[in-house]
Amino acid sequence: MPELPEVETMVRDLSPRLTGRRVTAVEAPFTGSVRYPDYPELVDRLVGQEITGVSRRGKYAIFSLASGDALILHRGMTGSVLARERSDPMEQWVRILFRLDDGTELRFQDSRKFGKVFLMEENGAERPLPWNRMGPEPLDSDFSEDALQRRLEGRTALIKPLLLNQEIVAGLGNIYADEALFLAAIHPERRANTLTAEEMTRLYGAIRTVLRNAVEGRGTTFSAYKDIEGRAGSYQGSLQVFHRTGEPCPRCGTAIMRTVVGGRGTHFCPTCQPR
Ligand SMILES: [Zn+2]
Repeated sequence: MPELPEVETMVRDLSPRLTGRRVTAVEAPFTGSVRYPDYPELVDRLVGQEITGVSRRGKYAIFSLASGDALILHRGMTGSVLARERSDPMEQWVRILFRLDDGTELRFQDSRKFGKVFLMEENGAERPLPWNRMGPEPLDSDFSEDALQRRLEGRTALIKPLLLNQEIVAGLGNIYADEALFLAAIHPERRANTLTAEEMTRLYGAIRTVLRNAVEGRGTTFSAYKDIEGRAGSYQGSLQVFHRTGEPCPRCGTAIMRTVVGGRGTHFCPTCQPR
């Protein structure tokens, strides 16, 4: 599932290519990806609009429009955005596509159909933005250790599901939560209120390091994730524990274990991350 680094990679690639372009047509073989407004209204409000910028909040990509609306895209489990020429052969599972005035076709490919597309006023006046209640951006310069501490303080829930909760910190998903907990040497089933000050410091640093490195590696690819040219990310080679069940821990050699925490497959080193 695309997390912060995969969405950030996409936004950085698309921004120079799309800014200043105009949407000339929309086509949707599957209109179910459009969650708001209904599909005809989305087409009506989008066609003819100039894209003024591409940005990210959490796992959402935001295409700002000259009208003040924003086209908002969440890639769900398997969604990828491909930037193609109109004449390029059509891929499988393209749910909705956007044609631009320079011949580019943005194709939203999503085999499992969990991806979501919205169009609404970007200032939030029309309806609450999807990231209305979202926590801070972990790579922002003003995301401090204090901010993380305040959000986890007194919480008796397990640390791993809390890291996946977008209202605590934006953009973390299953891969980078496991990697950050390994780097911080914290067991995924520790209760947040039992973390020491030193562990909190390590966790804060680990979240930022893991995400920053993954952005540099252009994200992680297992099966579905691709960048806008259809290429894989490269960070999967840097993963320490995620999907490495039974392999030796890179730090101590103990076999990596897999368990289920809060319904999600969770990977950790039982020696480096003691309960
Ligand atoms: Zn270990």
